Amino acid sequence: MMQSTRCSGCDYKRDVYFSDRVYDVGNLKFGLPVLANLGWCFTCRQCVAVEYIPDLTQLIEELADLRRNTECWQEENDLPNFRLVWAESRLQWRLRRKSPARCLECGSTDIRELSNFHKSLDGKTLGEHPNCLGGGKLLLDGTGFVNYLGMTVYVAEGLQKNVDATELG
Ligand SMILES: [Zn+2]
Ligand SMILES: [Zn+2]
Repeated sequence: MMQSTRCSGCDYKRDVYFSDRVYDVGNLKFGLPVLANLGWCFTCRQCVAVEYIPDLTQLIEELADLRRNTECWQEENDLPNFRLVWAESRLQWRLRRKSPARCLECGSTDIRELSNFHKSLDGKTLGEHPNCLGGGKLLLDGTGFVNYLGMTVYVAEGLQKNVDATELG
């Protein structure tokens, strides 16, 4: 998907793409999906997709809930439960993760989160546009769907891994 951003005080605008991104955590064939939010990167000087690193307690609770629900579910299904596999893998990843959240485009940690998909947006205002000559605010200017852009693979610390996704697993 894509989120369009613009500034209320100057002519800045940018479409931010939330394409398929995964961490190569070693044990998962298709990788662990990266959770991302809209953010501002002070290195790119752009609205970008930034990593969302959930709280440890949140991940532990989610995993416990999933395990409870899966017990009934598995009596009727032989298929692997990917949500459970990902939740277990995400908790292991979170326990090892050292670096703060990064810009998913350049890897910088000099970022500010502008929105959180897990919370509702405060209207369409995302926050101030840093160093804006017009003193404007960044606004969410719509969302859209995009064609598959290919997979980007990251190492556990959030930096892009320079391999083809076909090498995963
Ligand atoms: Zn950046
Ligand atoms: Zn501006």
